[in-house]
Amino acid sequence: MEFMPAGEIIGKAHQVRTVTIKQSPQLPDGDYSFIDSYCADPDCDCRKTMIQVIHNEKIVSIINYGWESAEFYKNWWGDDSNNNPMPKMHGASIDITSPDLVDRNGILALFNALLNDIWVAKFKHHYREFKKAISKEPSRSN
Ligand SMILES: [Zn+2]
Repeated sequence: MEFMPAGEIIGKAHQVRTVTIKQSPQLPDGDYSFIDSYCADPDCDCRKTMIQVIHNEKIVSIINYGWESAEFYKNWWGDDSNNNPMPKMHGASIDITSPDLVDRNGILALFNALLNDIWVAKFKHHYREFKKAISKEPSRSN
C-alpha cells in the first residue's frame, strides 16, 4: 500500500491537528502536528490512516490508526492468518517505519488522549474525500 498525505489530494478541505505539549513526563515540550495520510489505491477499502507526527519540523513518529472494529479487519483481511498474519489494524499502533525520535508509549498515549468522536469523524471524512479524488485521476489505467 502506498500512503499519501490527505492535503496533497483533497487540498484545503483537509485540516491538520496541532497540539502544544508542556511538561509531559514522556515527551519534549513544543508543538506536535498530526498529518493523516491514506492509501492511494482507489480499489482498496482498508479504512485506516497512517499519521505522521511532526515536531520541530521533523517526523518524530508514525502512527497507524484503524477506526473500524477488530472484527471488520479480520473479515476484510480474510481467514488465511496462518500464511499471512494480519498486521494490527484496529485502534492505534506505532508503524514499523516510524523513526521513533520520541518515546513510543508517550506519543501513543498522547494520540489516544486526543482521540475523540470529532477527530475520528474527520479521519472518515478525509478518507472518503481522498478515495473519491483519487478514483477520478485520469492517469490511472484500468
Ligand atoms: Zn488500502
